[in-house]
Amino acid sequence: MNRVVIVTGGSRGIGRAVALAVAARGHDVVVGYASNKAAADEVVGQIEAGGGKAIAVKCDVGSEADILNLFKQADQFGSLWALINNAGIVDQAARLDGMSAARLSRMMTVNVVGSMLCAREATKRLSTKHGGKGGVIVNLSSRAAVLGAPGQYIDYAASKAAIDAVTTGLGRELGNEGVRVVGVRPGLIDTEIHASGGDAEFARRLANTVPMQRVGTPEEIANAIVWLISEDASYVTATTMDVSGGR
Ligand code: NAP
Repeated sequence: MNRVVIVTGGSRGIGRAVALAVAARGHDVVVGYASNKAAADEVVGQIEAGGGKAIAVKCDVGSEADILNLFKQADQFGSLWALINNAGIVDQAARLDGMSAARLSRMMTVNVVGSMLCAREATKRLSTKHGGKGGVIVNLSSRAAVLGAPGQYIDYAASKAAIDAVTTGLGRELGNEGVRVVGVRPGLIDTEIHASGGDAEFARRLANTVPMQRVGTPEEIANAIVWLISEDASYVTATTMDVSGGR
């Protein structure tokens, strides 16, 4: 039986690459998206054209009701194996002394609370304590969690540092319940997220600061996640892996 993988923010960028990569390994995929239905439908279409199964579900992870509906749709689709907590946002580059309370709240609501609520729902389905058969939760962090992103977005860096703590804590909490919790810290990856930070060229401009002298591709992050959710990573939990070209 194919096992279901939920990818939040699966319509574009890294999430899209993850959805396509796990489908190519035989998983059925729930492609979450915030607003871009056409992009999510395109991902579903591409998976189906390759002989796979996928559905697109609108889910703004800033909304608990949307998250509950996402998991309800996934329950009807098949047996959950993995949650990829990928949906995440940045905001316009700013110093902390220029950030509003509303901005900080939104950042934490989407990046931290959203990911934790998704992890909660996955835990209820996967943990042997709840009658589940086990599985994997993958949290998308960022090298910003370590570097701090001064002058750019400390709020985003802080949200990803919180995600790293969730990966460690939840991984240990569920260590004996069949659920592995792992994180990935991408470096500079060529996606549209940088445009939403106000500088579409941000990653490419900094490429020469990366030890490998280039930005990464969404597929290179997806390949790490494919391994992390596979049985090949069966002893890997409560840890976060840098996939950053040495940055
Ligand atoms: P992206 O290209 O901006 O794509 C964002 C995806 O998330 C889209 O599918 C979007 O859906 C969805 N999304 C946005 N806001 C959402 C919300 N409130 N609820 C649910 N879905 C939402 O981003 P990306 O670069 O692929 O980043 C993916 C993850 O990797 C993020 O967690 C990000 O922080 C992390 N990351 C990225 C980089 C990088 O350099 N790109 C580096 C480190 C970490 P719509 O299509 O509907 O808008």
